[in-house]
Amino acid sequence: MQPLVIYNARVITLDPQRPLAAGLVVDGERIQAVLAAGEVAGALAGAGEAIDAGGATLVPGFIDTHVHLAVTGLGMLAVDLDGVDAIAGLLERLQAGAAGQPAGALVAAMNFQPELNPENRCPTPEELDAAAGGRPVYVMDRTGHQSVVNHAALAQLELPEGTPGVGRRPDGRFSGVLADEANTQAFTRLWPQFAAQAGLENAYRLAARQAVQGGITTLHALDDLDDVRLLLSLRGQLPVRVVPYTQSKDVAAVQALGLRQIGGCGAVMVDGDFTPHTAALLEPYTDRPETCGKLYYRDEELFDYVAAAHQAGLQVALHCVGSAAIEQLLNVYAEVLARWPRADHRHRIEHFELPAPGQAERARRLGVYLGMQPAFNHYWPHHGEYPEVVGPERAGRVDPLASLLAQGLPVGLGSDSPVTPLRPLLWLHSAVNHSNPAERISVQAALELATRGSSALAFEEKDKGALAPGMLADFVFLDADPYAVPPEQLGAIQVLRTYVGGRLVFDARDEAAA
Ligand SMILES: [Zn+2]
Repeated sequence: MQPLVIYNARVITLDPQRPLAAGLVVDGERIQAVLAAGEVAGALAGAGEAIDAGGATLVPGFIDTHVHLAVTGLGMLAVDLDGVDAIAGLLERLQAGAAGQPAGALVAAMNFQPELNPENRCPTPEELDAAAGGRPVYVMDRTGHQSVVNHAALAQLELPEGTPGVGRRPDGRFSGVLADEANTQAFTRLWPQFAAQAGLENAYRLAARQAVQGGITTLHALDDLDDVRLLLSLRGQLPVRVVPYTQSKDVAAVQALGLRQIGGCGAVMVDGDFTPHTAALLEPYTDRPETCGKLYYRDEELFDYVAAAHQAGLQVALHCVGSAAIEQLLNVYAEVLARWPRADHRHRIEHFELPAPGQAERARRLGVYLGMQPAFNHYWPHHGEYPEVVGPERAGRVDPLASLLAQGLPVGLGSDSPVTPLRPLLWLHSAVNHSNPAERISVQAALELATRGSSALAFEEKDKGALAPGMLADFVFLDADPYAVPPEQLGAIQVLRTYVGGRLVFDARDEAAA
Protein backbone atom coordinates (compact mmCIF):
# COMPACT_ATOMS: atom_id res chain seq x y z
CA MET A 1 0.00 0.00 0.00
CA GLN A 2 1.26 3.48 -0.82
CA PRO A 3 1.68 5.88 2.05
CA LEU A 4 -0.64 8.67 3.14
CA VAL A 5 0.97 12.12 3.05
CA ILE A 6 -0.42 14.97 5.15
CA TYR A 7 0.91 18.40 4.18
CA ASN A 8 0.28 22.11 4.66
CA ALA A 9 0.21 21.53 8.43
CA ARG A 10 1.93 22.97 11.45
CA VAL A 11 3.01 19.77 13.18
CA ILE A 12 3.90 19.98 16.88
CA THR A 13 5.69 16.63 17.16
CA LEU A 14 6.79 16.69 20.83
CA ASP A 15 9.84 14.84 19.53
CA PRO A 16 12.84 16.76 20.91
CA GLN A 17 14.84 15.77 17.79
CA ARG A 18 12.48 17.74 15.55
CA PRO A 19 9.85 19.71 17.51
CA LEU A 20 8.11 21.32 14.53
CA ALA A 21 7.37 20.03 11.03
CA ALA A 22 5.21 20.73 7.97
CA GLY A 23 3.82 17.29 7.23
CA LEU A 24 3.69 13.58 7.98
CA VAL A 25 4.02 10.39 5.98
CA VAL A 26 1.85 7.58 7.36
CA ASP A 27 2.37 3.98 6.33
CA GLY A 28 -0.35 1.68 7.62
CA GLU A 29 -0.86 2.38 11.30
CA ARG A 30 2.53 4.00 11.92
CA ILE A 31 4.38 7.18 11.03
CA GLN A 32 7.00 6.60 8.36
CA ALA A 33 8.45 10.11 8.20
CA VAL A 34 8.08 13.62 9.57
CA LEU A 35 8.48 16.23 6.84
CA ALA A 36 10.18 19.62 6.80
CA ALA A 37 8.64 22.11 4.38
CA GLY A 38 11.31 21.37 1.77
CA GLU A 39 10.60 17.61 1.87
CA VAL A 40 6.87 17.82 1.14
CA ALA A 41 7.06 17.92 -2.67
CA GLY A 42 9.25 14.82 -2.82
CA ALA A 43 6.96 12.91 -0.44
CA LEU A 44 3.86 13.87 -2.42
CA ALA A 45 5.41 12.34 -5.55
CA GLY A 46 5.34 8.90 -3.91
CA ALA A 47 2.06 9.30 -2.04
CA GLY A 48 -0.91 6.97 -2.40
CA GLU A 49 -3.22 9.49 -0.82
CA ALA A 50 -2.54 13.14 0.03
CA ILE A 51 -4.38 15.30 2.53
CA ASP A 52 -4.09 19.09 2.54
CA ALA A 53 -4.39 20.00 6.23
CA GLY A 54 -5.32 23.56 5.28
CA GLY A 55 -2.84 25.06 7.71
CA ALA A 56 -4.27 23.18 10.72
CA THR A 57 -2.07 22.46 13.73
CA LEU A 58 -1.34 18.76 14.29
CA VAL A 59 -0.47 17.36 17.71
CA PRO A 60 -0.01 13.79 18.97
CA GLY A 61 -3.29 12.19 20.05
CA PHE A 62 -4.19 12.98 23.64
CA ILE A 63 -4.03 10.17 26.21
CA ASP A 64 -6.58 10.28 29.00
CA THR A 65 -5.12 8.22 31.86
CA HIS A 66 -8.23 8.23 34.06
CA VAL A 67 -11.69 7.60 32.60
CA HIS A 68 -14.65 5.81 34.14
CA LEU A 69 -15.82 4.81 30.69
CA ALA A 70 -18.93 2.80 31.61
CA VAL A 71 -20.34 5.52 33.87
CA THR A 72 -19.37 8.19 31.32
CA GLY A 73 -21.46 6.46 28.66
CA LEU A 74 -24.29 5.68 31.06
CA GLY A 75 -24.21 9.33 32.08
CA MET A 76 -24.85 10.26 28.47
CA LEU A 77 -28.03 8.19 28.69
CA ALA A 78 -28.96 9.59 32.12
CA VAL A 79 -30.36 12.98 33.10
CA ASP A 80 -27.61 15.61 32.84
CA LEU A 81 -27.64 18.20 35.66
CA ASP A 82 -24.61 20.10 34.37
CA GLY A 83 -24.93 23.78 35.28
CA VAL A 84 -28.25 23.37 37.13
CA ASP A 85 -28.22 26.10 39.79
CA ALA A 86 -31.65 25.74 41.46
CA ILE A 87 -33.52 22.85 43.06
CA ALA A 88 -36.58 23.70 40.92
CA GLY A 89 -34.49 23.35 37.74
CA LEU A 90 -33.09 20.02 38.94
CA LEU A 91 -36.57 18.67 39.63
CA GLU A 92 -37.79 19.82 36.20
CA ARG A 93 -34.98 17.93 34.46
CA LEU A 94 -35.67 14.80 36.51
CA GLN A 95 -39.37 15.03 35.70
CA ALA A 96 -38.59 15.32 31.98
CA GLY A 97 -36.18 12.37 32.22
CA ALA A 98 -38.69 10.19 34.08
CA ALA A 99 -41.53 10.97 31.70
CA GLY A 100 -42.29 7.99 29.47
CA GLN A 101 -40.12 5.59 31.53
CA PRO A 102 -41.87 2.43 32.75
CA ALA A 103 -43.07 2.43 36.36
CA GLY A 104 -40.23 1.12 38.51
CA ALA A 105 -37.48 2.16 36.05
CA LEU A 106 -34.48 3.75 37.78
CA VAL A 107 -34.14 7.44 37.00
CA ALA A 108 -30.41 8.21 37.10
CA ALA A 109 -28.89 11.68 36.94
CA MET A 110 -25.38 13.05 37.17
CA ASN A 111 -23.20 16.18 37.34
CA PHE A 112 -25.13 17.61 40.30
CA GLN A 113 -23.26 20.41 42.12
CA PRO A 114 -25.20 21.35 45.28
CA GLU A 115 -22.92 24.36 45.81
CA LEU A 116 -24.37 25.98 42.66
CA ASN A 117 -27.87 26.45 44.11
CA PRO A 118 -28.25 29.47 46.38
CA GLU A 119 -29.48 27.31 49.27
CA ASN A 120 -26.43 25.02 48.85
CA ARG A 121 -28.64 22.01 49.56
CA CYS A 122 -29.65 18.68 48.05
CA PRO A 123 -33.22 17.82 47.04
CA THR A 124 -35.23 15.90 49.64
CA PRO A 125 -36.44 12.33 49.02
CA GLU A 126 -40.02 13.67 48.90
CA GLU A 127 -39.12 16.16 46.16
CA LEU A 128 -37.46 13.35 44.17
CA ASP A 129 -40.52 11.10 44.62
CA ALA A 130 -42.81 13.81 43.26
CA ALA A 131 -40.56 14.62 40.27
CA ALA A 132 -40.11 10.99 39.23
CA GLY A 133 -43.66 9.80 39.84
CA GLY A 134 -42.55 7.40 42.57
CA ARG A 135 -39.81 5.73 40.45
CA PRO A 136 -36.47 5.13 42.19
CA VAL A 137 -34.14 8.11 41.72
CA TYR A 138 -30.34 8.19 41.91
CA VAL A 139 -28.62 11.58 41.58
CA MET A 140 -24.82 11.45 41.50
CA ASP A 141 -22.81 14.46 42.60
CA ARG A 142 -20.23 15.75 40.07
CA THR A 143 -17.45 14.50 42.34
CA GLY A 144 -18.97 11.00 42.52
CA HIS A 145 -18.28 11.00 46.26
CA GLN A 146 -21.80 11.91 47.30
CA SER A 147 -25.23 11.10 45.91
CA VAL A 148 -28.90 11.73 46.62
CA VAL A 149 -31.60 9.05 46.42
CA ASN A 150 -35.28 8.80 47.28
CA HIS A 151 -36.90 6.17 49.47
CA ALA A 152 -37.56 3.77 46.58
CA ALA A 153 -33.87 3.71 45.60
CA LEU A 154 -32.77 3.48 49.24
CA ALA A 155 -35.04 0.47 49.72
CA GLN A 156 -33.38 -1.27 46.75
CA LEU A 157 -29.96 -0.83 48.32
CA GLU A 158 -31.03 -2.74 51.47
CA LEU A 159 -28.18 -1.11 53.41
CA PRO A 160 -27.44 -2.92 56.67
CA GLU A 161 -28.25 -1.01 59.86
CA GLY A 162 -25.40 1.34 60.74
CA THR A 163 -23.89 1.64 57.22
CA PRO A 164 -21.68 4.77 57.37
CA GLY A 165 -22.79 7.77 55.28
CA VAL A 166 -26.60 7.59 55.35
CA GLY A 167 -27.70 11.23 55.79
CA ARG A 168 -30.26 12.21 58.45
CA ARG A 169 -32.30 15.38 58.93
CA PRO A 170 -32.29 17.12 62.33
CA ASP A 171 -35.51 15.23 63.21
CA GLY A 172 -33.87 11.91 62.38
CA ARG A 173 -35.63 11.25 59.08
CA PHE A 174 -33.57 10.10 56.04
CA SER A 175 -32.20 13.20 54.24
CA GLY A 176 -31.62 11.52 50.85
CA VAL A 177 -27.87 12.20 50.95
CA LEU A 178 -25.46 9.27 50.76
CA ALA A 179 -21.73 9.63 51.40
CA ASP A 180 -18.94 7.28 52.46
CA GLU A 181 -19.80 3.54 52.32
CA ALA A 182 -23.48 4.22 51.54
CA ASN A 183 -22.46 6.21 48.47
CA THR A 184 -20.07 3.46 47.34
CA GLN A 185 -22.92 0.95 47.67
CA ALA A 186 -25.18 3.18 45.56
CA PHE A 187 -22.43 3.69 42.97
CA THR A 188 -21.57 0.01 42.64
CA ARG A 189 -25.17 -1.24 42.66
CA LEU A 190 -27.36 1.40 41.02
CA TRP A 191 -25.17 2.02 37.96
CA PRO A 192 -25.23 -1.69 36.99
CA GLN A 193 -29.00 -1.57 37.34
CA PHE A 194 -29.16 1.48 35.10
CA ALA A 195 -26.69 -0.25 32.71
CA ALA A 196 -29.01 -3.24 32.38
CA GLN A 197 -31.86 -0.86 31.64
CA ALA A 198 -30.08 1.51 29.24
CA GLY A 199 -27.60 -0.91 27.60
CA LEU A 200 -23.92 -0.92 28.59
CA GLU A 201 -22.63 -1.69 25.09
CA ASN A 202 -24.49 1.34 23.77
CA ALA A 203 -23.03 3.39 26.62
CA TYR A 204 -19.48 2.28 25.76
CA ARG A 205 -19.95 3.21 22.10
CA LEU A 206 -21.30 6.65 22.99
CA ALA A 207 -18.47 7.36 25.42
CA ALA A 208 -15.78 6.17 22.98
CA ARG A 209 -17.25 8.45 20.32
CA GLN A 210 -17.16 11.39 22.72
CA ALA A 211 -13.50 10.64 23.50
CA VAL A 212 -12.37 10.89 19.87
CA GLN A 213 -14.44 14.06 19.43
CA GLY A 214 -12.30 15.55 22.19
CA GLY A 215 -9.06 14.45 20.49
CA ILE A 216 -8.41 11.46 22.76
CA THR A 217 -6.78 8.55 20.94
CA THR A 218 -6.03 6.32 23.96
CA LEU A 219 -7.83 6.18 27.27
CA HIS A 220 -7.30 4.22 30.45
CA ALA A 221 -10.69 2.78 31.41
CA LEU A 222 -11.05 2.48 35.21
CA ASP A 223 -14.14 0.28 35.29
CA ASP A 224 -15.62 -2.55 37.35
CA LEU A 225 -14.85 -6.21 36.58
CA ASP A 226 -18.06 -7.14 34.75
CA ASP A 227 -17.93 -3.93 32.73
CA VAL A 228 -14.32 -4.63 31.74
CA ARG A 229 -15.34 -8.09 30.51
CA LEU A 230 -17.81 -6.45 28.12
CA LEU A 231 -15.33 -3.75 27.21
CA LEU A 232 -12.75 -6.38 26.20
CA SER A 233 -15.32 -7.98 23.90
CA LEU A 234 -15.72 -4.59 22.16
CA ARG A 235 -11.98 -4.09 21.60
CA GLY A 236 -11.31 -3.34 17.95
CA GLN A 237 -14.85 -2.09 17.47
CA LEU A 238 -14.42 1.18 19.32
CA PRO A 239 -12.84 4.23 17.62
CA VAL A 240 -10.46 4.88 20.54
CA ARG A 241 -7.69 2.67 21.97
CA VAL A 242 -8.49 1.42 25.47
CA VAL A 243 -6.22 0.23 28.31
CA PRO A 244 -8.39 -1.29 31.09
CA TYR A 245 -7.55 -0.77 34.79
CA THR A 246 -10.05 -2.97 36.60
CA GLN A 247 -11.64 -1.61 39.80
CA SER A 248 -11.63 -4.94 41.58
CA LYS A 249 -9.93 -6.52 44.58
CA ASP A 250 -10.10 -9.90 42.81
CA VAL A 251 -6.52 -10.06 41.55
CA ALA A 252 -6.90 -13.58 40.13
CA ALA A 253 -9.95 -12.60 38.07
CA VAL A 254 -8.15 -9.60 36.60
CA GLN A 255 -5.10 -11.74 35.81
CA ALA A 256 -7.34 -14.35 34.18
CA LEU A 257 -8.51 -11.67 31.73
CA GLY A 258 -4.90 -11.29 30.58
CA LEU A 259 -4.68 -7.71 31.84
CA ARG A 260 -1.50 -6.04 33.15
CA GLN A 261 -3.15 -3.34 35.27
CA ILE A 262 -5.49 -3.14 38.24
CA GLY A 263 -7.10 -0.44 40.35
CA GLY A 264 -8.92 2.86 40.04
CA CYS A 265 -11.53 4.51 42.23
CA GLY A 266 -15.02 3.11 42.97
CA ALA A 267 -14.80 0.09 45.27
CA VAL A 268 -10.97 0.14 45.46
CA MET A 269 -10.22 3.78 46.38
CA VAL A 270 -8.08 4.61 49.40
CA ASP A 271 -10.10 7.67 50.52
CA GLY A 272 -12.92 9.96 49.38
CA ASP A 273 -13.04 13.64 48.46
CA PHE A 274 -12.89 17.08 50.13
CA THR A 275 -16.50 18.26 49.88
CA PRO A 276 -18.11 15.33 51.76
CA HIS A 277 -15.12 15.43 54.18
CA THR A 278 -14.08 11.88 53.25
CA ALA A 279 -10.65 12.73 51.78
CA ALA A 280 -8.25 11.42 54.45
CA LEU A 281 -6.04 14.20 55.83
CA LEU A 282 -3.12 14.07 58.26
CA GLU A 283 -4.52 17.19 60.01
CA PRO A 284 -8.25 17.81 60.74
CA TYR A 285 -10.63 19.62 58.39
CA THR A 286 -10.81 23.37 59.02
CA ASP A 287 -14.62 23.65 59.02
CA ARG A 288 -15.12 20.34 60.87
CA PRO A 289 -12.17 20.02 63.25
CA GLU A 290 -13.61 16.82 64.74
CA THR A 291 -12.71 14.86 61.59
CA CYS A 292 -9.62 14.05 59.47
CA GLY A 293 -11.73 12.33 56.82
CA LYS A 294 -11.77 8.63 56.11
CA LEU A 295 -9.38 5.88 55.09
CA TYR A 296 -11.33 3.13 53.32
CA TYR A 297 -8.78 0.38 54.12
CA ARG A 298 -7.10 -0.82 57.26
CA ASP A 299 -3.30 -0.81 56.71
CA GLU A 300 -3.01 -4.60 56.47
CA GLU A 301 -5.99 -4.83 54.12
CA LEU A 302 -4.40 -2.38 51.67
CA PHE A 303 -1.05 -4.16 52.01
CA ASP A 304 -2.60 -7.56 51.21
CA TYR A 305 -4.38 -6.21 48.13
CA VAL A 306 -1.38 -4.32 46.71
CA ALA A 307 1.03 -7.14 47.57
CA ALA A 308 -1.14 -9.70 45.76
CA ALA A 309 -1.41 -7.50 42.68
CA HIS A 310 2.30 -6.68 42.70
CA GLN A 311 3.31 -10.33 43.05
CA ALA A 312 1.01 -11.18 40.16
CA GLY A 313 3.07 -8.75 38.07
CA LEU A 314 0.29 -6.20 37.76
CA GLN A 315 0.69 -2.43 37.75
CA VAL A 316 -1.41 -0.87 40.53
CA ALA A 317 -3.23 2.50 40.31
CA LEU A 318 -5.26 3.75 43.28
CA HIS A 319 -7.28 6.85 44.14
CA CYS A 320 -5.68 8.95 46.92
CA VAL A 321 -6.87 12.55 47.37
CA GLY A 322 -5.72 13.54 50.85
CA SER A 323 -2.34 13.43 52.62
CA ALA A 324 -3.27 10.55 54.95
CA ALA A 325 -4.38 8.38 52.02
CA ILE A 326 -1.19 9.24 50.12
CA GLU A 327 0.82 8.36 53.25
CA GLN A 328 -0.95 5.01 53.64
CA LEU A 329 -0.39 4.00 50.02
CA LEU A 330 3.24 5.22 49.99
CA ASN A 331 3.87 3.11 53.12
CA VAL A 332 2.35 0.08 51.40
CA TYR A 333 4.27 0.63 48.15
CA ALA A 334 7.53 1.02 50.14
CA GLU A 335 6.92 -2.21 52.08
CA VAL A 336 5.88 -4.21 49.02
CA LEU A 337 8.85 -2.98 46.98
CA ALA A 338 11.25 -3.72 49.83
CA ARG A 339 9.98 -7.29 50.08
CA TRP A 340 9.57 -8.01 46.38
CA PRO A 341 11.74 -5.52 44.47
CA ARG A 342 10.71 -4.90 40.87
CA ALA A 343 12.44 -2.48 38.52
CA ASP A 344 10.23 -0.05 36.60
CA HIS A 345 6.97 -1.12 38.27
CA ARG A 346 5.33 2.28 37.62
CA HIS A 347 2.72 1.78 40.35
CA ARG A 348 0.47 4.83 40.26
CA ILE A 349 -1.23 7.19 42.65
CA GLU A 350 -4.35 8.78 41.18
CA HIS A 351 -5.28 12.42 41.92
CA PHE A 352 -2.51 13.11 44.51
CA GLU A 353 -4.42 16.32 45.26
CA LEU A 354 -3.16 17.36 48.66
CA PRO A 355 0.22 15.79 49.43
CA ALA A 356 1.93 16.76 52.69
CA PRO A 357 5.43 18.22 52.48
CA GLY A 358 7.91 15.45 51.69
CA GLN A 359 5.41 13.02 50.16
CA ALA A 360 6.18 14.00 46.57
CA GLU A 361 9.89 13.35 47.10
CA ARG A 362 9.09 10.02 48.72
CA ALA A 363 6.85 9.05 45.78
CA ARG A 364 9.63 9.99 43.35
CA ARG A 365 12.19 7.87 45.16
CA LEU A 366 9.82 4.89 45.15
CA GLY A 367 9.34 5.20 41.36
CA VAL A 368 5.64 6.04 41.68
CA TYR A 369 3.85 7.65 38.70
CA LEU A 370 1.04 10.16 39.17
CA GLY A 371 -2.28 10.38 37.31
CA MET A 372 -3.55 13.96 37.68
CA GLN A 373 -6.63 15.85 36.51
CA PRO A 374 -5.98 19.56 35.88
CA ALA A 375 -9.65 20.32 35.14
CA PHE A 376 -10.46 19.73 38.83
CA ASN A 377 -8.92 23.15 39.32
CA HIS A 378 -11.23 24.56 36.64
CA TYR A 379 -14.39 23.33 38.38
CA TRP A 380 -13.20 23.62 42.00
CA PRO A 381 -10.69 26.49 42.00
CA HIS A 382 -8.76 27.07 45.17
CA HIS A 383 -10.54 30.34 45.88
CA GLY A 384 -13.92 28.54 45.88
CA GLU A 385 -15.01 26.37 48.77
CA TYR A 386 -11.63 24.73 49.51
CA PRO A 387 -10.33 27.53 51.78
CA GLU A 388 -13.41 26.98 53.94
CA VAL A 389 -13.06 23.19 54.01
CA VAL A 390 -9.29 22.73 54.38
CA GLY A 391 -8.20 26.32 55.22
CA PRO A 392 -6.43 28.80 52.98
CA GLU A 393 -2.91 27.41 53.47
CA ARG A 394 -3.82 23.86 52.42
CA ALA A 395 -6.25 25.09 49.73
CA GLY A 396 -3.29 26.83 48.09
CA ARG A 397 -1.44 23.51 47.90
CA VAL A 398 -4.19 21.45 46.22
CA ASP A 399 -3.29 20.02 42.77
CA PRO A 400 0.34 21.22 42.89
CA LEU A 401 1.16 20.58 39.24
CA ALA A 402 4.18 22.88 38.79
CA SER A 403 5.72 21.82 42.12
CA LEU A 404 5.46 18.13 41.25
CA LEU A 405 7.09 18.66 37.86
CA ALA A 406 9.85 20.74 39.44
CA GLN A 407 10.55 17.81 41.78
CA GLY A 408 10.86 15.44 38.83
CA LEU A 409 7.71 13.38 39.38
CA PRO A 410 6.48 11.50 36.30
CA VAL A 411 2.95 12.79 35.67
CA GLY A 412 0.23 11.88 33.17
CA LEU A 413 -3.05 13.70 32.72
CA GLY A 414 -6.68 12.70 32.59
CA SER A 415 -10.26 13.80 33.01
CA ASP A 416 -11.66 11.41 35.65
CA SER A 417 -14.66 11.52 33.29
CA PRO A 418 -17.54 11.81 34.11
CA VAL A 419 -16.17 14.06 36.89
CA THR A 420 -14.79 16.41 34.22
CA PRO A 421 -15.48 16.11 30.48
CA LEU A 422 -13.43 14.18 27.90
CA ARG A 423 -11.82 17.41 26.67
CA PRO A 424 -8.02 17.50 26.85
CA LEU A 425 -7.96 21.11 25.67
CA LEU A 426 -9.67 21.94 28.96
CA TRP A 427 -6.74 20.23 30.77
CA LEU A 428 -4.31 22.46 28.89
CA HIS A 429 -6.42 25.48 29.74
CA SER A 430 -6.67 24.52 33.42
CA ALA A 431 -2.97 23.65 33.81
CA VAL A 432 -1.78 26.86 32.12
CA ASN A 433 -4.33 29.08 33.93
CA HIS A 434 -4.16 27.29 37.33
CA SER A 435 -5.96 29.27 40.08
CA ASN A 436 -2.70 29.32 42.04
CA PRO A 437 -0.26 31.29 39.83
CA ALA A 438 2.68 29.44 41.40
CA GLU A 439 1.33 26.12 40.08
CA ARG A 440 0.81 27.23 36.46
CA ILE A 441 2.80 25.35 33.83
CA SER A 442 3.73 26.27 30.25
CA VAL A 443 1.66 25.26 27.22
CA GLN A 444 4.49 23.01 26.09
CA ALA A 445 4.74 21.32 29.48
CA ALA A 446 0.97 20.75 29.53
CA LEU A 447 0.99 19.33 25.98
CA GLU A 448 3.87 17.02 26.88
CA LEU A 449 2.09 15.72 29.98
CA ALA A 450 -1.13 15.07 28.04
CA THR A 451 0.71 13.02 25.39
CA ARG A 452 4.23 11.76 26.20
CA GLY A 453 3.76 11.96 29.95
CA SER A 454 0.47 10.10 29.79
CA SER A 455 1.85 7.40 27.47
CA ALA A 456 4.42 6.41 30.11
CA LEU A 457 1.72 5.74 32.70
CA ALA A 458 0.81 2.58 30.76
CA PHE A 459 4.37 1.74 29.54
CA GLU A 460 3.51 2.94 26.02
CA GLU A 461 6.04 5.73 25.44
CA LYS A 462 7.78 3.78 22.66
CA ASP A 463 4.57 3.76 20.60
CA LYS A 464 2.57 6.80 21.63
CA GLY A 465 2.86 10.39 22.75
CA ALA A 466 5.03 11.92 20.01
CA LEU A 467 4.99 12.17 16.23
CA ALA A 468 8.20 10.54 15.01
CA PRO A 469 9.15 7.76 12.60
CA GLY A 470 7.98 4.37 13.91
CA MET A 471 5.41 5.78 16.34
CA LEU A 472 1.72 4.96 16.00
CA ALA A 473 -0.11 7.36 13.67
CA ASP A 474 -2.38 8.72 16.41
CA PHE A 475 -2.83 12.48 15.94
CA VAL A 476 -5.28 15.33 16.07
CA PHE A 477 -5.98 18.35 13.84
CA LEU A 478 -6.65 21.55 15.84
CA ASP A 479 -8.15 24.77 14.52
CA ALA A 480 -5.53 26.90 16.29
CA ASP A 481 -1.94 26.60 17.47
CA PRO A 482 -1.83 26.20 21.29
CA TYR A 483 1.57 27.99 21.31
CA ALA A 484 0.09 31.00 19.52
CA VAL A 485 -3.30 31.64 21.17
CA PRO A 486 -3.58 33.76 24.35
CA PRO A 487 -3.51 31.44 27.41
CA GLU A 488 -7.11 32.24 28.36
CA GLN A 489 -8.24 31.05 24.89
CA LEU A 490 -6.70 27.55 25.10
CA GLY A 491 -9.96 25.92 26.13
CA ALA A 492 -11.71 27.34 23.06
CA ILE A 493 -9.45 25.50 20.58
CA GLN A 494 -11.52 23.06 18.56
CA VAL A 495 -10.60 19.53 17.48
CA LEU A 496 -11.14 19.28 13.71
CA ARG A 497 -10.14 15.65 13.10
CA THR A 498 -8.84 12.69 15.06
CA TYR A 499 -6.74 9.87 13.57
CA VAL A 500 -6.06 6.56 15.33
CA GLY A 501 -3.54 4.25 13.67
CA GLY A 502 -3.66 6.34 10.49
CA ARG A 503 -7.45 5.97 10.30
CA LEU A 504 -9.78 8.96 10.46
CA VAL A 505 -12.12 8.30 13.43
CA PHE A 506 -13.60 11.78 13.90
CA ASP A 507 -14.15 14.61 11.46
CA ALA A 508 -15.90 17.77 12.67
CA ARG A 509 -17.09 18.43 9.10
CA ASP A 510 -19.25 15.28 9.22
CA GLU A 511 -20.83 16.45 12.46
CA ALA A 512 -21.52 19.86 10.93
CA ALA A 513 -23.14 18.20 7.89
CA ALA A 514 -25.19 15.78 10.04
ZN1 LIG B 1 -11.69 8.37 39.22
